[in-house]
Parts: sequence; structure tokens; C-alpha cells
Amino acid sequence: MSSTPLAAQLAEIGRQCYARGWALGTSGNFSAVLSRDPLRLAITVSGVDKGLLTAREIVEIDEQGKVVAGSGNPSAEAVLHLAIARARGAGAVLHTHSIWSTILSDNAPETGLAIEGYEMLKGLDDVRTHDHREWLPILDNTQEWAAAIPQVESMLAARPDAHGFLIRRHGLYTWGRDLAEAKRQVEILEFLFEVMGRKRGMTWQR
Ligand SMILES: [Zn+2]
Repeated sequence: MSSTPLAAQLAEIGRQCYARGWALGTSGNFSAVLSRDPLRLAITVSGVDKGLLTAREIVEIDEQGKVVAGSGNPSAEAVLHLAIARARGAGAVLHTHSIWSTILSDNAPETGLAIEGYEMLKGLDDVRTHDHREWLPILDNTQEWAAAIPQVESMLAARPDAHGFLIRRHGLYTWGRDLAEAKRQVEILEFLFEVMGRKRGMTWQR
């Protein structure tokens, strides 16, 4: 597993997310689809400092989340990566724990975050104009993701246009056809979160 180019690319993206402050400590996890049928993902193992991530900390899991190549345990959130890969046909799924996504997801009882009118929205897949309203659903956090998967699947089905979703006081999930597209979407969304967070910070205290 560690010798595949995809593992090296995932590790590099993980280190970049760490360097940008989006996956500090051991937070965040990153995956890419190795095969579609049967579904196999390359995914980061849990408990690894993302600033030190290498291809050795990437394992291959099957559609149940069981490790079939490499050593280490994937995060309990691996089931989310599998659900997104299935529901969206995504080739890569990236999950960050940034300061701004943590703050902006903390707007209960709102069930989503609207982002509209920004030029940078055009960095999202299929968005052609700043005059776009992106709605990122917000899910409540849990430590029991396997049990929450039906809720995640129905949210993904209900919001087919969403380029990602937030988990309250936790972070962002986004994806893409491949790693390059998923990485671009993380950058775009994290940029927009920071813009909105800084703007709201002047008047929105919590
Ligand atoms: Zn997480």
C-alpha cells in the first residue's frame, strides 16, 4: 500500500492540511478510491500526527472498513468516507478540523451554513458564477458514526448539490472526482469559512 503513488499523494495532502492549520495534531483524515467494484479506499490511519504523515500511515480498507493492506487502524470516521464514496461517486474524500469550520458549524439550531455571493465559490465543481448559493448541511457530532450512517446517507440524498458538509464543533467533509479536485474544494471552502468567520466575528459573538 505504502508504495502506491496514491498513498504518497494522500500523505502530502495531509501534511499540507496540517501546515495550513486545518488538521492539527492527529485530527482529520483523508482517503482516495483505489477501486470501485469492489469498493476499496486508501485512507489515513488514526492517531498519526498529520504534520508527520507518510505513505506508511495509509492503509487499504474494504467496503466494511476492514483493513486489507498495510498496518494500523483507520479512524472510526472511515465509515463516513465509504458512505461519501458510494453516495457521491467521489474519488477522494478529505476531512479537516479547522478553526473556522469549528466556529461556523456552531450555529445551532441552524441545520446548515449558506455561503453566497463570493467569487471564490467558482472554485467549487460546476459553479460558474459568484451568484451561487452553497448550502452546507450541518450534522450533529457523535462518536458513533457507524450508527449515524443512515442519517448521513439521507442527508447526502436530500442535498445532491452540496459540495461538502459540516459536523457541529468538529469540522468539514468535502470530496472530489479525484484527489486534486477534493484538495481544491478544501482550499476553497476553508477560504470561504475564514472570510465569513472574520466578517461575522465583528458582530457575532458566542
Ligand atoms: Zn473528525
